[in-house]
Amino acid sequence: MERMLPYASEEERIEESRSYMDMIMMNLHNHSTFSDGIFPPEAIVKKAISCGLNYVAITDHYMTRKARSMDNSELERYIDEISRLKDEYSSEIKVLMGVEIDASRDRTNFDAIRYDLLNSMDFVLFEYVNDDLWEGMHLWELFNIIQKIEVPSGLAHNDISRNFREIDYDALLNVLEDNDIFVELSPSPRNSKFNRPYYRFAMEFFHALSRSDVMVSIGTDTHTNLDEVCLIKDAIAFIEEMRLENNLITERIG
Ligand SMILES: [Zn+2]
Repeated sequence: MERMLPYASEEERIEESRSYMDMIMMNLHNHSTFSDGIFPPEAIVKKAISCGLNYVAITDHYMTRKARSMDNSELERYIDEISRLKDEYSSEIKVLMGVEIDASRDRTNFDAIRYDLLNSMDFVLFEYVNDDLWEGMHLWELFNIIQKIEVPSGLAHNDISRNFREIDYDALLNVLEDNDIFVELSPSPRNSKFNRPYYRFAMEFFHALSRSDVMVSIGTDTHTNLDEVCLIKDAIAFIEEMRLENNLITERIG
C-alpha cells in the first residue's frame, strides 16, 4: 500500500486498512440455477452474507453450448431477478451482476449476443481465453467483441503461465489495461493443477501486475457446493503476498 504512505494519522491509517479489508471480501464468480449451478441466486447471496463477504456476484453462463446456459430471453429474466436481489440486500452486501462467456468460437454463438443487455451488467467474464486445450480464441481475436462491451471484462480462471507463456508480460498488461480487462484469481480446486491454484504458477505475471493499473478479482466458480461461496482465503493471502492491494476490481465496480 505504498501509494497511501505516509499516513497523516493513526486514525486515517485504520480507516485505509478498513476500506481495503472491505474491498477484498469478494466472490465475483458464482453460478446459479439460471445456468449449471444448483442453488438459486438468493441462496448464494445469503451464504455470502453469512460469511462476511461485502461483494458477491452471480455470473451464469450465457450463449454457450458447453454447459446449461442462458439465451436472450432467460438473460432478461436473470437481469430482473439479480436487480431485485441488489435492492433487497443492499444494506447487507453489494450484489453484482455478470455473465460468463466461453471464448470458444465453436461453443458460443457470438452473433446472437445482446450487447445492450451485457452493458447493463457490472462486468462480463470470459473463460478459456488464449487456452489452446479448450479451443479458446486468442485475446486479440476477442478484441472486437470486448470493445463492444462498455463494462469491465475479466479473464476467468485463466491458467496464465500456460496460456500466455509466449507473451511478454509487460506487453500483455498494457493490452489488458487499454481494454479494461481484469484478471480473476480462482482459488477453486477446479482451477488448480498439482493441488495449487493456477495463479500460484504465475507469480512473475502478478508481480508485474502489481506495478500496473490492471485489476484483479476473486471468484471461486461455485456450481454445486454452496460452501465454496466463502472459500476465498487463499486468494486473499495471495493478494497480500503479491502486494495487489491497490489492484482490487471492487475499487472500480459496485
Ligand atoms: Zn464459471
